Amino acid sequence: MHGRPPEPMFPTPELFVDGAFVPSADGARRSVVCPTTGRTLAEVAEGGAADADRAVRAARTAFDHGPWPRATPRERAALLERVADLLERDRERFAALETLDTGKTLGESRDDVTQVADVFRYFAALIRVDGGHVNRAEGAVLSLTLARPAGVVALITPWNYPLLQASWKVAPALAAGCTFVLKPSELTPLTTLALAETLAEAGLPSGVANVVTGAGTSVGAALVEDPRVEMVSFTGGLATGRRVAQAAAQRAAKVALELGGKNPNIVLADADLDAAADHALEAVFFHAGQVCSAGSRLLVADEVHDELVERIAGRVAAIRLGAGWDPATEMGPLISAEHRAKVEGYVRLAQEEGAELRLGGRRPADPGLGDGWYLEPTLLLGLPPDGRVAREEVFGPVLTVERVRDLDDALARADATDTGLAAGVWTRELATALAAAERLRFGTVWWNDFHPYFPEAPWGGFKTSGVGRELGRAGLREFQEEQHLYLNGRPGRSDAFGRGGARRG
Ligand code: NAD
Repeated sequence: MHGRPPEPMFPTPELFVDGAFVPSADGARRSVVCPTTGRTLAEVAEGGAADADRAVRAARTAFDHGPWPRATPRERAALLERVADLLERDRERFAALETLDTGKTLGESRDDVTQVADVFRYFAALIRVDGGHVNRAEGAVLSLTLARPAGVVALITPWNYPLLQASWKVAPALAAGCTFVLKPSELTPLTTLALAETLAEAGLPSGVANVVTGAGTSVGAALVEDPRVEMVSFTGGLATGRRVAQAAAQRAAKVALELGGKNPNIVLADADLDAAADHALEAVFFHAGQVCSAGSRLLVADEVHDELVERIAGRVAAIRLGAGWDPATEMGPLISAEHRAKVEGYVRLAQEEGAELRLGGRRPADPGLGDGWYLEPTLLLGLPPDGRVAREEVFGPVLTVERVRDLDDALARADATDTGLAAGVWTRELATALAAAERLRFGTVWWNDFHPYFPEAPWGGFKTSGVGRELGRAGLREFQEEQHLYLNGRPGRSDAFGRGGARRG
């Protein structure tokens, strides 16, 4: 029914510490399960606090004594370019591993790898041109701002975009001259381990990059609490992000957080409805809605509400579920049985809160899909704006629709959430879009589109959607400490102390 799963070369299923693949200290292993078939893909080393300790020691030594932080920007850029070349060479391998591990379609996984290679190329270019700046140049005095590496950093990533989210941290961390310990989600470690192989093949010195697989509560917590780790860059859910921030705050470590979102997609009465309908679907059903910026909350002006809903409903019913490696598949399964149960809970809650279930919300009847954690694409109408579902991240293939009076009504609803990651506005008037963007407290605002991002532009959230930014110049700054260097080429005498007040006025 699914066709044949791909058979890529699997990465060595061990921890990557100090340039070598090694078993965990206690020999524990964890099964990594394919969400499409329910079968075990690999038995991966399950690290613990002792392994985190070993990896931090390697990263610390590499930072304090190794060549990487002292390499020139040109040398670092050359290595990042080599990584990009290798990722492009191995695109099919990475894409197949990602699809097996996450359930997303092969097309999406291939796009992820292409974009990941581009992220490495972007930071390679940026580090060569972004060396700091001159604050003052006055006579013999020169004041410079220089960017120094932030040090040893812990990178913690989620399961929905394992390779992509890792690259948004790994590429700028390396460009900046940091060394790191990376902990992928325990559900999806395969492409991260393959990336470790790629970094080694590219010639990265031992100890600069370390990968410790294992649970968040053991490996993740140990990394965040370790006083030798100077900065933590975390992507994941809000509850975990708060714990990470609290632990980092205990020892005044720097922290960058990319958290969840409840992202409104606003369609006004004058919108191009053909394009708006296409993108309303893409906004939420891409990767079965397991996207931090999923446009799961459609706010539609009264005048066009019924027409847009009809257009969308016909298409939702036709979305083809299946294995990510089947070329006919448009949407794969959810990541786990627990996660599907959580999403189903939100579908029930929405109905309890007063929404009408128009389509989906069930597990597909097709017995060929019985082994995977599928959920039918779901359309809920008339979602009340004051309920939990209007505010909380569902993270599944669930589109909720609210009828709004006008832009003001839409903006008030959009603002009534604690999160602020991304928002879309559909109108033919640029002036309307600009006015909306000014009032939308979201890190990204799309006008007549949804989802595009690229390495040159910053990514991150207002409010509880995060702290700091990834990608863009700001994404490099996260991994740098600014140092003010004051140079005085003509030192003068100072009469300030101990000269009997002779010159004091
Ligand atoms: P999660 O918070 O459950 O886990 C994220 C990572 O944190 C995992 O590696 C996990 O093992 C680790 N972790 C768990 N407890 C920890 C602890 N106490 N200390 C340190 N690390 C710990 O998130 P998830 O379910 O893997 O990912 C989904 C979430 O990620 C969604 O909320 C989504 O919106 C968010 N996300 C945000 C962005 C963004 O750019 N803003 C991108 C992707 C995903």
